[in-house]
Amino acid sequence: MNKTGFAFHEHCLWHDTGPCSVFDAPGGFIQPGTAAENPETKRRFKNLLDVSGLSELLTPIKGALAEHDDLRRFHTPDYLQRLATQSDQQFGEAGLCAPFRQDAFHIARLSAGHTIATLESVLKGEVDNAYCLTRPPGHHAESHQGNGFCLLGNIPIAIKAAQAKGLVNRVVVVDWDVHHGNGTQEAFYDNADVLTISIHHDNNYPIDSGAVHERGDGPGFGYNLNVPLPAGSGIGAYKATIEQIVEPAIKRFQPELIVIACGFDASAMDPLGCMILNAETYHWMTKRMMQCAADTCGGKLAMIHEGGYSEGYVPFCGHAVIEALSNAAIHVPDPLGADIARWGQQSLQPHQQALLSEISLLLNDIH
Ligand code: ZN
Repeated sequence: MNKTGFAFHEHCLWHDTGPCSVFDAPGGFIQPGTAAENPETKRRFKNLLDVSGLSELLTPIKGALAEHDDLRRFHTPDYLQRLATQSDQQFGEAGLCAPFRQDAFHIARLSAGHTIATLESVLKGEVDNAYCLTRPPGHHAESHQGNGFCLLGNIPIAIKAAQAKGLVNRVVVVDWDVHHGNGTQEAFYDNADVLTISIHHDNNYPIDSGAVHERGDGPGFGYNLNVPLPAGSGIGAYKATIEQIVEPAIKRFQPELIVIACGFDASAMDPLGCMILNAETYHWMTKRMMQCAADTCGGKLAMIHEGGYSEGYVPFCGHAVIEALSNAAIHVPDPLGADIARWGQQSLQPHQQALLSEISLLLNDIH
């Protein structure tokens, strides 16, 4: 078994997105209802780990509130001030599709703080690898505003904190949330020390973000890779993306740490994505990233929770990932996995391969 760290804090589940109904602000013809980004998906993931017994085999990681110095390495002072002020009021709006209720800044700092602690625990060798189950998520948050349910850029904040402490220099971020990791891209766009790779549904969210030609600036040119897969991509397309793009990129780059922005919204059951993965594919991708980490950086792998909006299915995808990380004997069967795997067009399709062939030519700029 591996010593797998697990960062979690109940208070993160108390974050309330407030006036957001399913996928947008209620009003007009939109009936008020539960926001897509709500605690239940993550709570059921944690509950399944408890019920299966897997959580007893994990090493708890406790995070503190992220310090203002940590936040300022990515976010502008104006934005942080606005977030703090609005957070003392009943409602706030951090940016596009990022409403919140009071205490959000405090809880977002806790979420970022757990991400910081997760990276540090892996880098210091206290655990072999780790999973951080936290919210609000972070990968859409921009330097000057929140975006897409995200208030603070958990991963950029944690990487910059670890770099500032001299714990790491070269890091790869693989973002397999179904939406573009635009915030992480922005944070390291002109930086060759952090290779950012985002696998996402082409032009889903944010709109007009995540194209192949967004490759980085200045010294960072070549160190941002976008894989905007067409709607309907499934098991074959994702496995080919890992084999043809992600693994060769990581081997060329030779990181000291691999961070996964782990969204489960590319699952076949997700209401905010149009991809068709099952839990077994998340297990497979995690195993491949563990092998990549073993080959390049002593196995140092930190996975940070992002999106995933199917209350029923996220727990099985998440459990499959933790099974992989820990090498535990405990296995929870995926109730839908076999059926999903038999859906049409699960194999790699020619138009998907054409995109991967185009992107694989860009790997030559990674050194
Ligand atoms: Zn997402």
